[in-house]
Amino acid sequence: MLSEKKDENDFHEIHISDAVNISKKSFVMMAGPCAAESRDQVMRTAEELVKLGIKVFRAGCFKPRTDPYAFQGSGEEGLKWLAEVRDQFGMKIISEVSNFTNFKIVEQYTDIIQIGAKSMYDHSLLIGSGKSAKPILIKRGFSATIDEYLRMTEYILVNGNGNVILCERGIRTFETASRFTLDLCGTAVMQDRVNLPLILDPSHAVGISRFVPKLALACAAFDCEGLIIEVHCNPSEALCDKNQALTLQQYKSLYAKVKEIAEINGRTVV
Ligand code: PEP
Ligand code: MN
Repeated sequence: MLSEKKDENDFHEIHISDAVNISKKSFVMMAGPCAAESRDQVMRTAEELVKLGIKVFRAGCFKPRTDPYAFQGSGEEGLKWLAEVRDQFGMKIISEVSNFTNFKIVEQYTDIIQIGAKSMYDHSLLIGSGKSAKPILIKRGFSATIDEYLRMTEYILVNGNGNVILCERGIRTFETASRFTLDLCGTAVMQDRVNLPLILDPSHAVGISRFVPKLALACAAFDCEGLIIEVHCNPSEALCDKNQALTLQQYKSLYAKVKEIAEINGRTVV
């Protein structure tokens, strides 16, 4: 397997920009709403996050919702708002592809392409991602074993794109009190086996905003390469994943604590 770690120093750094190099010395804080809902929501959220020093802004424009009657995303219009965030605030953009028909358009507007948990098994997306020049963040499917996840990820690598970021976002267990169960045991196994950066997603894992900060601190202590967290300028009005969205104020206080922990681990927050 191309992702197999050969020795302790075998690690694939990913250069996103001069300010964001994903490495063993950095801790990347990706943040933003689940979905780009309106130009105003996107710009208001980004404006506050950039003040904190956030350099990678997340927002989905093509949302693979379980419910066909739920908000499906703003499509290309949303991607244009994200391009505005890049131009106005200098942030890099991560956004999700939901199927191969929107791959090219998402690729055109983003700096990192996200493959969501539900799409982890989509061969057309994985092979397409392998042929792309953009870094790919691929989330672990919530019912995929570590072995299945890493083998599917390998499709991107063998098709020519080595810039892959892994993301553990919670798996399904018998427990229903939280949305999913963050698999930190599996994370330790992947950190031991694989030479790719790994980031953790406490938002989708626990799914309840008041528990996100606590889990995020555990994630930071886990010495991964960063976190992706959902933040909304007005969570009660969010059109997608509203229960897990942090307010800007909540995110701000969390950010300060995460920074301290990352620094204890010898990492600089980017
Ligand atoms: C998301 O990042 O908003 C998302 C849909 O995540 P996941 O694929 O982990 O469910
Ligand atoms: Mn979401």
